[in-house]
Amino acid sequence: MNIIKTTSPKTKPPADQLGFGQYFTDHMFLCDYSPEKGWHDARIVPYAPLSLDPASMVLHYGQELFEGLKAYYGVDGKVRLFRAEENFKRMNRSAMRLHVPVLDENFVLSALKELIRTDKDWIPDAPECSLYIRPFIIATDPFLGVRGSHNYTFVIILSPVGAYYKGGLTPTRIFVEPSDVRAVRGGTGDAKIGGNYAATIRAQENAKLEGFTQVMWLDAIERKYVEEIGTSNAFFVINDTVITPPLNGTILPGITRSSVIELLRSWGIGIKERQISIDEVIAAADSGALTESFASGTAAVISPVGSLHYDSRDIVIGGDNIGPTTQKLYDTLTGIQWGRVEDTFNWTKVL
Ligand SMILES: *Cc1c(COP(=O)(O)O)cnc(C)c1O
Repeated sequence: MNIIKTTSPKTKPPADQLGFGQYFTDHMFLCDYSPEKGWHDARIVPYAPLSLDPASMVLHYGQELFEGLKAYYGVDGKVRLFRAEENFKRMNRSAMRLHVPVLDENFVLSALKELIRTDKDWIPDAPECSLYIRPFIIATDPFLGVRGSHNYTFVIILSPVGAYYKGGLTPTRIFVEPSDVRAVRGGTGDAKIGGNYAATIRAQENAKLEGFTQVMWLDAIERKYVEEIGTSNAFFVINDTVITPPLNGTILPGITRSSVIELLRSWGIGIKERQISIDEVIAAADSGALTESFASGTAAVISPVGSLHYDSRDIVIGGDNIGPTTQKLYDTLTGIQWGRVEDTFNWTKVL
């Protein structure tokens, strides 16, 4: 692979100022697609703005897909990736949904490793900090007609990110969104694409204005069944059984979600993938059967839900504290990611 190193490396921000997705490393990976050459010209170059024709199809019809994963600087000084193969499998599923040419998963993984090695000094070694990885593909034909683009660019950028929680897990306040929806069956809810997010920003900003952390999405047909929490998968602990909505086409198949399910099974805790209505959640909260609720995703790993706002009511869950299942999942997953807990599932790969 062609690697062009920067001649003007940037100053690295201090770990306590990292936040999420604000700083970018010195290099990026690029690869182009054309019908004649397929995917070609894989290269690592200095991080810089992309040059795009204003008619580029992605800017008009949103043919874009992405992934999100992390590299972790372990307590043993080793750098680990967490289930990265799963991210690239999912990226190809998203690509197929948007009629974008797929990439060779092994090739992409080795390109990512090369990019991380090029920017290895950017992996934060402060506790709970990590290197967020954002691969994405955009349609680049300069054309205003609606059809599949013929040319695409695949990019990977890297962003050092700070501790998601400062001083322990904090329960979130969730607004159950009654009118806007994020996905409908047959649409793109189960693909990781920018277009899914555009439709969710209004509800999210309105909820934030009212002091909520995130919105909970209900199904688009009946506005009844729980789908996701923000950009994370939703879980409820009812009578000691964990329930999460099934992957029926509107839900993003989270890699954290599947890891949570596998961990719970290995601990002998009941886990059911089934539809759960918001009325069932509220009835279970009222009766005391609902003891915990949490969201799962790469950014926050596990995020406890402290309360739900629905139909002018505030429903507190687990006394607005972190429940034992939520805490154990967080400790185990982050333990595996930072090399503190033995990885019996073979989820991590040392770089
Ligand atoms: C990325 C994403 C998730 C979480 O997936 P992970 O693989 O666990 O990070 C959940 N919901 C949506 C809508 C997402 O885009």
